[in-house]
Amino acid sequence: MADMASIAFEQIDKIYPGGTQALFALSLSVADGELVALVGPSGCGKSTLLRLLAGLDQATRGGLWINGELINHLPPQQRNVAMVFQDYALYPHMTVRGNLEFPLKMRKLPRTEIARQVAWAAELLSLGALLDRFPKQLSGGQRQRVAMGRALVRQPAAFLMDEPLSNLDSRLRVQIRSELSELLDRLGATTLYVTHDQSEAMTLGDRVAVMDQGRLQQIAPPQALYERPANTFVAGFIGNPPMNLFPVRVTSAGDGGQLRLGEQTMPLPAPMADRQWDGLLTAGLRPEHLHLANAEAHNGLHAKVSATEYLGHETLLYARMSGMDAPGSTLVTRLPGIQIFHPGDTVRLSLDPMQLHFFGGDGAALDHGNADTCSCR
Ligand code: ADP
Repeated sequence: MADMASIAFEQIDKIYPGGTQALFALSLSVADGELVALVGPSGCGKSTLLRLLAGLDQATRGGLWINGELINHLPPQQRNVAMVFQDYALYPHMTVRGNLEFPLKMRKLPRTEIARQVAWAAELLSLGALLDRFPKQLSGGQRQRVAMGRALVRQPAAFLMDEPLSNLDSRLRVQIRSELSELLDRLGATTLYVTHDQSEAMTLGDRVAVMDQGRLQQIAPPQALYERPANTFVAGFIGNPPMNLFPVRVTSAGDGGQLRLGEQTMPLPAPMADRQWDGLLTAGLRPEHLHLANAEAHNGLHAKVSATEYLGHETLLYARMSGMDAPGSTLVTRLPGIQIFHPGDTVRLSLDPMQLHFFGGDGAALDHGNADTCSCR
């Protein structure tokens, strides 16, 4: 598609009348042709951010940019961004063709140009056979494609998508998600895509931006976000089940150190026993980095099974570490296949200390190497 553009938010504050502050000094950019997926819990400010860029609401402070041009003062119709919402808001009394033509008629384009654009979008989205149907004669997935088509024919500088798949049932959602991903890729479309579904964000996003309480927590490519979460919020949000987070005490001694979890201890290799980390920290460990230790082994953490989830291809084992009753003392372990346990069984869990993440009192990751992925500080 011609003329896609970069978009940027610069130090945006949004305070609603009544005093709710929805965004705090939020900076974020989407490069030309990039898809940034914006994810976070309900109420974290995702929709507000989109609405500000679309011009449906005004920022209290900060700059909004499209292709290097400050657009704060531009009315919505001059911003040239197309929004796709969850309720596709197709016109029920118009056919698919009518819905696709509508934005072009509003712009008073010549008939031949309208026909050309509609044919292009219909071809791209395989809507050709549906052009004479009304929205109520379409499936949810087809309606979603028409809504996309209506956004496409406007040839926008960028797409803003607000949970566009959330009205679809889960099977269809996964199918449309891959079609949409392929389409946006092919178009080289600059897209800011809002979702509360982390798996959608991780599969669609070139980069994923995680927000909480009006603040950007981290923006990074999906793999970096998973492997190097910048703080405990991101660690506990990304991943299903998310990273185990639990209180530990680290002491360094000689060329190594020790990790204390409740009344249990385990040795830490030198690179993990940084003297600066001595003291009370939060440790993080992905469920796939915990394993069952051999029954005769001396290493491993003693734990008592509290619950199991049998998912067929894997078993999630929930076990509480002995001598700990603080929140975070229950660890989830991802085991291959079906493995049978009963509540109260004792198990030994082993782990590679190099897979541990450490977070300080403010929740920020102490691992080195986050600087390249976190542009939020
Ligand atoms: P999300 O899209 O992540 O669910 P929103 O952007 O809708 O979050 O909302 C962010 C915060 O701003 C919430 O606390 C919400 O209640 C508040 N908010 C949203 N719209 C308005 C409004 N028009 N007036 C007052 N507060 C609002």
